[in-house]
Amino acid sequence: GVRVRFAPSPTGYLHLGGLRTALYNYLFAKKHGGTFILRLEDTDRSRLVAGAAQSIEDMLEWAGIPPDESPRRGGPCAPYEQSRRLDLYHAAAKTMLDSGAAYRCFCTSQRLDLLKKEALRSRQTPRYDNRCRHLSSKQVQDKLSQGTPFVVRFRLLEGPQPFQDLVYGWTRHDVASVEGDPVILKGDGFPTYHLANVVDDYHMGVSHVLRGTEWLISTPKHLLLYQALGWQPPQFAHLPLLLNKDGSKLSKRQGDIFIQHYIDNGYLSDALLDLITNCGSGFTAENQMGRTMETLIQQYDLGKTSTHSALLDLDKLPEFNRIHLTKKIDNTDTRFQLVKQLKTLLKDAYKDLVLDEQYIERILLLRKGHLSQLTDLLSSEYSYLWIRPAISKDNLQSLSKEARNIGNIAVRLLKENTSDLTLETLNGELKSKMKRLEDTKYSNAMKLLRVALSGQEHGPSVAEMLLSLGSEESIIRLQNALT
Ligand code: GLU
Repeated sequence: GVRVRFAPSPTGYLHLGGLRTALYNYLFAKKHGGTFILRLEDTDRSRLVAGAAQSIEDMLEWAGIPPDESPRRGGPCAPYEQSRRLDLYHAAAKTMLDSGAAYRCFCTSQRLDLLKKEALRSRQTPRYDNRCRHLSSKQVQDKLSQGTPFVVRFRLLEGPQPFQDLVYGWTRHDVASVEGDPVILKGDGFPTYHLANVVDDYHMGVSHVLRGTEWLISTPKHLLLYQALGWQPPQFAHLPLLLNKDGSKLSKRQGDIFIQHYIDNGYLSDALLDLITNCGSGFTAENQMGRTMETLIQQYDLGKTSTHSALLDLDKLPEFNRIHLTKKIDNTDTRFQLVKQLKTLLKDAYKDLVLDEQYIERILLLRKGHLSQLTDLLSSEYSYLWIRPAISKDNLQSLSKEARNIGNIAVRLLKENTSDLTLETLNGELKSKMKRLEDTKYSNAMKLLRVALSGQEHGPSVAEMLLSLGSEESIIRLQNALT
């Protein structure tokens, strides 16, 4: 069956590029009834960031693409952290040392530094000169008995290693012609990326490797490792770069490449995923908005991935979010979650505020389609919904005769039918009662009533404000203004 993995290094928090890779793996797995694995590549001990590993898994769950097997969830191939799988790497290294596919390198860091400096002086790319390849077994034994520290290097075979990438097609790259033999096991006993990655993909039964295009160049090396270990390699699909819409690198400038930023700013994961899948390839129908996970799984087609960079237009996120928020308000289950969420947010923003959930729900239904984010409702333009505004006498003195009239009509309407008023009927009633009024006077009067209800000249229609606040509160506010 299909088994894919997302294999981040917990050297930082999850960013947009990582989320895209994880998402494509998830979609590919779900599309084919397969398994999505999260594996942490934490072998570079010096670059670990505390909390990053936990956070990455949290983010996947937030995004609605939880792994089937992971450090937290466990699974048949546990453990899912490379730092806890050292035995497997040592065994593979030993196999290759025994067969001669790998060798011990005793070169000191001073010698390696010197090689590097010489290369740079003659304007060449530094590479290891493979000197220890040629040590005799006697020399190796001597060094070992003297306790000389060593690393294990992989003997790169020469010649191009053609392979068929599922996205980039036939690819050939002769690693040995540009690189020295790579270290696979470091002096501290930890493997490097290449060895650990290959060993784990094999032992975890990974069938397809979907990863960023920056790894395309490493793949021939990986294929040589599979060959040396006598293992069948998985299939490879490299995903094109994810860039800003102007083609520049996704930057950390505004801190907006990290997923946490979107959580903190109240964006919906569905909106973010919808946007990410809209900018690149891999989908039968692009330029659609409002696609849910189910649709994404259905539409995803690895074969449709192109090698063109995907351009991410983050400016569109609020609009995507508005569409997904509207959907979530329409659905009773998700609406209930939004109510709870908003209640918590409001409690934080307005201390000691007591709100009943029906009231919050009514506001969501009335404002649906106008909100790009739930947190919009925390902004000052909506504060009148949560606290009675203080309205200065000056504002009220200017209350026109027309405004008084409409105000009184509104109070009467609210008193008469408390339950069955809708936005349309209320609007209609207000208008028809003021039929003979000129448009300018009508809108002026409405503006004044809006001030009476909300303390603001602009905002939703008076009818919507009345319905939002409810009869009781509206009457209090209007009567305060009218008397
Ligand atoms: N640990 C690598 C990374 O951080 C994984 C690359 C791969 O998927 O093979 O991207």
